Amino acid sequence: MKNTASVHDAGTALVSRPALDQRLRFIRPTLPSLDEVLSVYRQGYSQGLLTNGEVVGRFEAAVAERLGVKYCIAVSSCTSGLMLAAKALGLRGEVILPSFTFFATGHAALWNGLTPVFADCDPETWTLDPTDVSRKITERTSAIMGVHMYGNPCFTEELEDLAARRGVKLIFDGAHALGSVHGGRPIGQFGDAEVFSLTPTKLLVAGEGGLVTTNDAILAHKIRAGRNYGDLGTYDPELLGLSARMPEFNAALGLVGLDILDHKIARHNEIAARYTAALSRVRGLRFQKIRAGDLCTFKDYSVLVDAAEYGMSRDELAVALLAENIETKKYFYPPLHRQHLYGSFYDATHDGLAHTNLISDTVLSFPIYESLQDEIVDAITSTVRRLAK
Ligand SMILES: *Cc1c(COP(=O)(O)O)cnc(C)c1O
Repeated sequence: MKNTASVHDAGTALVSRPALDQRLRFIRPTLPSLDEVLSVYRQGYSQGLLTNGEVVGRFEAAVAERLGVKYCIAVSSCTSGLMLAAKALGLRGEVILPSFTFFATGHAALWNGLTPVFADCDPETWTLDPTDVSRKITERTSAIMGVHMYGNPCFTEELEDLAARRGVKLIFDGAHALGSVHGGRPIGQFGDAEVFSLTPTKLLVAGEGGLVTTNDAILAHKIRAGRNYGDLGTYDPELLGLSARMPEFNAALGLVGLDILDHKIARHNEIAARYTAALSRVRGLRFQKIRAGDLCTFKDYSVLVDAAEYGMSRDELAVALLAENIETKKYFYPPLHRQHLYGSFYDATHDGLAHTNLISDTVLSFPIYESLQDEIVDAITSTVRRLAK
């Protein structure tokens, strides 16, 4: 598909033409060379080892080394990894999590019979606000689940301090954050466990898959058992597990893909900087704050649209951009507490999620992927500028 930008010229065109002459795909994953993937995969395949072979172990070791963690356990998805982490930690009662997230974060809690308690997010970083978490911890709380939103590291130390002081566990949904760095330390090292996603919309792609990282040997052992029905060979399961192993092919894809991860992160950061530079003086747009020294993967690039200042609402802007062949997403709207699976866990009088509501109601995500050319980014930003009041 050609991504040719032709900026609409209102002065001469009789019929207005869209900013882009063809619909721009929102996401287009860059994949490593299939030959390289097959060269890793071939040997096991020829021996009939499609699962429980050695590629998964090599992939886990490579990730553990890169992230500087003792244990990495590959699983079938981030969702199953979160479910297994919660199960292996023996969580009970309530878990505190953001409502501004993808619903898989919450599903992991519900599948474990846990009661989700929603905490607000910080208005600048759009990640879980430790102060609001602290207010919501009760004797029923067994864990906190933070989300590194779009790869922007959470307030990790504050949440770790809080979890330690109040005697609760801490899990991070790092679905977006493989390669993110906070305070010089890779995401993957924080909390009791961090869980990554490897689906095609994330930066490191394994087709489908997830990774759990931890420095806790017992937890690692339980999750390893948990991905295999809870059984590590005794035929007497240690815990109620899942069938959530990562197939060898997916591990080969992930292992080879690790080589291009840094390039992808760098390109996402270039594109994000280009968007922000071009949009920063548009009235009514707000940007996610990345704290000094942190590295964000920019799995997504999103802005908040203030309808009064910008001149149209987020929803109107999304429709207007689509008419220009620019597809956007509302990551993540609606927030969990306004979805039917989760609404009953929310009590408006106590829970007060003002920032969550504001962010989710005004957030708009623009295309961002490695092969997106600068000219297309420029066509998008000039269209957003032209549509402004
Ligand atoms: C993509 C995503 C998940 C789910 O990942 P899967 O690997 O598809 O299970 C979980 N949390 C967040 C925040 C995500 O964006």
